Amino acid sequence: MPTADSCALKVTAHQTKTREGVFHFTRFSSTDRTARALKVLGICWLIAAVTVLIPLAHFVLVPGFFIAGPVMALMRYKVDKAADKVAVQCPVCEKNVEIKMEASDWPPMYTYCPECNTGVELSE
Ligand SMILES: [Zn+2]
Repeated sequence: MPTADSCALKVTAHQTKTREGVFHFTRFSSTDRTARALKVLGICWLIAAVTVLIPLAHFVLVPGFFIAGPVMALMRYKVDKAADKVAVQCPVCEKNVEIKMEASDWPPMYTYCPECNTGVELSE
């Protein structure tokens, strides 16, 4: 089962103003990673099976999804953690904000405050 985790990180604006924030992310165990990979593999191969019914396009789609399945499953298996959000008081506008992150985003990185659009650096 995926476990939610968090750690402290620094949020810096204009290379001078720094605040402590909380970085929330999800960890995946070996069992979770296998289940996620098999799910992707199953979906790709299901799409490959369905596209057999499409005339002419099936010459490209069926082998494409059949090969893409194991490749995407391997990529998914390698993901052991996924970023969620950063909760912090913005160093510029002083508001408490939650910065949404893509699953593959990981500090150190640059992003924007959702309230005042100021560029901020996230670092551990
Ligand atoms: Zn702000």
